[in-house]
Amino acid sequence: MSIGGRHCLSKIFQPITIISKKSNLTRQDVTSKSQRLMLDLGFIQQASPGCFHFLPLGLKSLNKLIKIVDDEMFKICGQKVLFPGLTNDKLWKNSGRLNEPVAELFQVKDRHHQNYILSPTHEEAATDLLSSVSPISYKYFPLRLYQISSKFRDEMKPRFGLMRGREFVMKDMYTFDVDVESAKKTYEEVCESYNRVFDRIGIEYVKVLGSSGTMGGTMSHEYQFKASIGEDRILCCRNCNYSANIELCGEHNCPNCGEGSNINLQTGIEVGHTFFLGDKYSKPLGAVCSSTNCKSEVLQMGSYGLGLSRILAAAVEVLSSETEMKWPDALAPYNVIILPPKKGSKEEPQTKNVAETLYTKLEEVIPSLRGNVLLDDRTSLTIGRRFLDAKRTGYHHIVIINKKTTETPSFYELNDTAMNRQLILSEEELIDYIKQNTVF
Ligand SMILES: [Zn+2]
Repeated sequence: MSIGGRHCLSKIFQPITIISKKSNLTRQDVTSKSQRLMLDLGFIQQASPGCFHFLPLGLKSLNKLIKIVDDEMFKICGQKVLFPGLTNDKLWKNSGRLNEPVAELFQVKDRHHQNYILSPTHEEAATDLLSSVSPISYKYFPLRLYQISSKFRDEMKPRFGLMRGREFVMKDMYTFDVDVESAKKTYEEVCESYNRVFDRIGIEYVKVLGSSGTMGGTMSHEYQFKASIGEDRILCCRNCNYSANIELCGEHNCPNCGEGSNINLQTGIEVGHTFFLGDKYSKPLGAVCSSTNCKSEVLQMGSYGLGLSRILAAAVEVLSSETEMKWPDALAPYNVIILPPKKGSKEEPQTKNVAETLYTKLEEVIPSLRGNVLLDDRTSLTIGRRFLDAKRTGYHHIVIINKKTTETPSFYELNDTAMNRQLILSEEELIDYIKQNTVF
């Protein structure tokens, strides 16, 4: 990707997906706008139904999201760990989650005939870890462990690309507290940190009451991006601000205030979920602490998930048009792309190294841009062609070096694709504009 320490487009592995008899993908498999754009523009590639390769641009975006999440988890004393992907199914039997067959679980058997689960979530694994070192002194709590890893679900119909896959990247956190009161405080703190994560991503979201489903526990909230393709239906009461997943309430009246006319129904994509679990897992699996008077107390738990690969696709889904991909600044693989003139053009000899110098200057003056500027060095292509590519890929700031750059005083053409405006700016104005108009 790098030439002389610079990110250069000609070196990026960005294959476009060609749907042919040979490929493992058919047009019917492409069920959403974000999936089509991410495939067409070489962000991801389908490996098998519901499983995707993250290509360099897709992974760059994912890593930006991971950085935001790590940052916010650190602020609430979250400690990052990594649990094994395989969980012994005995733990799931002990927690009661295997009492009935679960169709979505991937299960495997080892050579000694022991059954394992390719984990979709790690409540049992995390609780068993605590249990294996119990009783733990009360001084260690609150304890907040989280991981970012691949999760597995045997979806009947994988669809919408990264939004409903069979293998996906999730951040999951498990919290342990000595009593219900402190566990509720933890729950509030994690919810506030999730609010900050979504504020930083910059896509409009709602937090609604959610169903605890198979997870159990007594309280649950969902974070939803509003989108027509969303599979969840949300009720929002304009009278009292109550909002919930429709699974929890009727469609006609607000269960909180009884209001019937001021109800707003919409569809959403679930991007985060929080559960207050109490002792549902800690009791059967024996995760306890020793209290001040040396008595053993069962730990109180919470479980919190962010669907990271899904958030990427959902962000693209919400912002993009049918033909052009759009990213929130915080997750865009690059924030600025520079287009030097075509090889052999009149401007070429007079603008030698101008693109490289501007690249270096942008990174120097705006340190947050380091690693976020891209040089489209495919100079055998016209500016027009490269401009269309850049626009379609959703780069927020497209800088064009053209005839005006060769004149005195010299100017750059800046295309702000988020605001849909074109500006002619001096170098100083250009740097200032990009600084003012990028959200880091
Ligand atoms: Zn209401």
